[in-house]
Amino acid sequence: MALRNILTKEQPGLYKHCRPVTDFNPRLHQLLDDMRETLMAANGVGLAAPQVGVLRRAVLVLETNVPEGESERLIELINPEILESSGEQDGPEGCLSVPGEYGLVKRPMHVKVRAQDRNGEWFEAEGDGLTARCFCHEIDHLEGVVFTSRAERMLSEEELESGEY
Ligand code: ZN
Repeated sequence: MALRNILTKEQPGLYKHCRPVTDFNPRLHQLLDDMRETLMAANGVGLAAPQVGVLRRAVLVLETNVPEGESERLIELINPEILESSGEQDGPEGCLSVPGEYGLVKRPMHVKVRAQDRNGEWFEAEGDGLTARCFCHEIDHLEGVVFTSRAERMLSEEELESGEY
């Protein structure tokens, strides 16, 4: 495995539409393993392939709200799509490609997604709260959408620290 460079918001590759993954081969597995290592090293909760310069529809989402005693699960989603969403949450959102900046972004409270795993098998996954936010954020990356374009406004450090926004 190897760490990959994370593109930052100045780089045009972040704003491009990504193509579907069609080959579930060792090259894809290498990409996913590298993304996992890169995400863990950066202490993030999600990462999309275009963030490491690969314009393919693959993302990782760390499922953080697991029952007590269970460890967090990292979900690999290939060619993901949102099947259902409900509710609403409005809160701070950030991105490894936009380090140090946070914005107020509205997202659904609950989403259900469908995706393929690294071997091409279809599965469904559901998420609430931060995990729902993360599914939406990462799938946005596949359309070349960065959260700053969805933010009602960006937050100052004071606002973030006080939790009042
Ligand atoms: Zn992001």
